[in-house]
Amino acid sequence: MSKDTVQKGLVVSMEYKLTVDGEVLDSSDDAGPLLFLAGHENIVPGLERAMVGMKIGESRDVVVAPKDGYGELDDEAFMDVPRSEFPDEMQIEDGMELHVTDEDGNHQAAYVAGFDDKSVRLDFNHPLAGAELYFNVKVVALREPTAEELDHGHVHEEGHHH
Ligand code: ZN
Repeated sequence: MSKDTVQKGLVVSMEYKLTVDGEVLDSSDDAGPLLFLAGHENIVPGLERAMVGMKIGESRDVVVAPKDGYGELDDEAFMDVPRSEFPDEMQIEDGMELHVTDEDGNHQAAYVAGFDDKSVRLDFNHPLAGAELYFNVKVVALREPTAEELDHGHVHEEGHHH
């Protein structure tokens, strides 16, 4: 297969803009083009699927439904935690992000979805769960991954390794 279109196993460099509910949430205007390794779940599945076959220089508007983006909002993904489990001096605010560690030692992000003197309701949904995502993307470059990138399943940008 010729390697001049977006396909699994190529590193794609794209300019993008993400809009949710009419608000631009993220864009390559700030950070420069985003690089991802196609076929390795580096970006939301609905966007990747829509980009397969795009040529360098081509742009596209893509609407991604929640199930192909950050998932549906899960009504079960809430937990009430006693206020006493948080430090007294901690200022709890609606919408604030917290990092919690579960019994298996996994770190998870949660958001405060309400609180009173006795308990704090934590929301473990991704902040964009349930959201329809509007992407405008443009492919600016394509290249073969290095052996190491392929091995890791993600792109190593210059001066940056993980
Ligand atoms: Zn790596």
